[in-house]
Amino acid sequence: MVKRMMDTKPTVYIKTYGCQMNEYDSEVMAGTLKDRGYYLTEDLEKADVILLNTCYVREKVKHKILSKLGQLRKLKEKNSNLILGLCGCLVQKEPGKILRQAPYLDFILGSSNFFELPQVLREISGDHTSDSGLGQGHVARIGTRASQSQIVRVEENRIIPENLPKLRKRKFTAFIPVMRGCDNFCSFCNVPYVRGRERSRLAHDILKEVKELSCLGYKEVTLLGQNVNSYGKDLEERIDFADLLGLVNKIEGIRRIRFTTSHPKDLDDKLIEVMASLDKVCEHLHLPLQSGSSKILSRMRRKYTREGYINLVDKLRRAIPEVTLTTDIMVGFPGEEEEDFQDTLDLVEEVRFDGAFTFCYSPLEGTKAAEYRERVPDKISGERLRRLIELEQKIILERNGSLVGKKFEILVEGVSKKRPYELQGRTRGNKIVVFEGKEDLIGRFILVKVLESGCWALKGEIVSC
Ligand code: SAM
Ligand code: SF4
Repeated sequence: MVKRMMDTKPTVYIKTYGCQMNEYDSEVMAGTLKDRGYYLTEDLEKADVILLNTCYVREKVKHKILSKLGQLRKLKEKNSNLILGLCGCLVQKEPGKILRQAPYLDFILGSSNFFELPQVLREISGDHTSDSGLGQGHVARIGTRASQSQIVRVEENRIIPENLPKLRKRKFTAFIPVMRGCDNFCSFCNVPYVRGRERSRLAHDILKEVKELSCLGYKEVTLLGQNVNSYGKDLEERIDFADLLGLVNKIEGIRRIRFTTSHPKDLDDKLIEVMASLDKVCEHLHLPLQSGSSKILSRMRRKYTREGYINLVDKLRRAIPEVTLTTDIMVGFPGEEEEDFQDTLDLVEEVRFDGAFTFCYSPLEGTKAAEYRERVPDKISGERLRRLIELEQKIILERNGSLVGKKFEILVEGVSKKRPYELQGRTRGNKIVVFEGKEDLIGRFILVKVLESGCWALKGEIVSC
């Protein structure tokens, strides 16, 4: 069926759900489309193509995305030329189910097929020649679609495409995946099913990307992986994550290096030493705990114990006394008794995290834990989550309170999200500081003094610019 021929370039709206890796994938999708002459918009109503880049870490997220799709369906009913696509982890896991639930979708792209977006849009327009990445002039002529059939690309791809253009959201800090997928198969987790097996990028490609960012004026990079400590295990080159940090540390112009996520079972002495000795590696570690009960950790297949985790934190704090520690904690995992939960609270009290992402366990079909019978009722999980958050917030307030009066170097990232007359930046320890200042400070390192503390941010004043 031939539809309206558009005289202008198609406009694409991309909404991202989930983690920093998804944010990066969206930046690649936006970049490859812009390179081919598409417009990107933040206004849904102006879009010819709407794409949701999805996450599937908990059932709740899935429901949120499906409800958003329901709203988009209404837009499509008003404008039959509108093209709707779904990309990422949710479609990777359940492509058939999703297509049955949303038959009005025009295309779905799995989590390792995101770079095929320009080609898919060309095919929708009836152009089956392959996308050569030649830039403008090769734009799919949205609105000239010849067929109504849905396009589905969900093949797992071990190859990580390199040198793709990116349209980065941030100007001074950037995310850089060093690996994709995960081989750990924690019993609650979807990632190995929706993101595939672990594969590392070549150090050469990572360093090239960091150097390019440095030339563009970026000052900080965050190296990403589900378990960065496994970096390099699948490469022919003999290199591990600590070695990679050493190489990134040498790149001129980049002043701060962060990374996430470290799995406690693989955080070794070499990495701790390297964190302590490299000047650009920030004193912050995100070290997901999940539970403070060794019994529950074993059922989660985390391969460390409560004692092992505490020892690791001690070792880390001996090596880097000022390190800030953040974590992920889950409550209501099948079989979690009150005493197991109490173990989690006790550990939180002992370790005193600077921040925690806290979740109620959500059973995910196909994972081992979804087969466990000893479910914790929602009411009890909800109550445990409330108690955990209350404790963690008290600790954060105390820890942040101890920073009042101290001075920190921050990288000014932009205007404060809550108060547009203030700016915000981060310390090396990843604490957010808001302060009054002029916008020409954005992108610069300045010294601030902390005046007040809260749970989510510190309030400061400029000491020197
Ligand atoms: N790779 C990281 C690690 O090893 O801890 C975790 C990545 S996972 C995408 C992010 C967090 O989501 C996990 O640390 C966990 O706390 C939470 N999460 C994962 N699966 C979950 C589930 N089924 N129910 C609730 N929370 C879950
Ligand atoms: Fe999921 Fe475990 Fe892999 Fe983290 S390490 S992504 S929790 S399977």
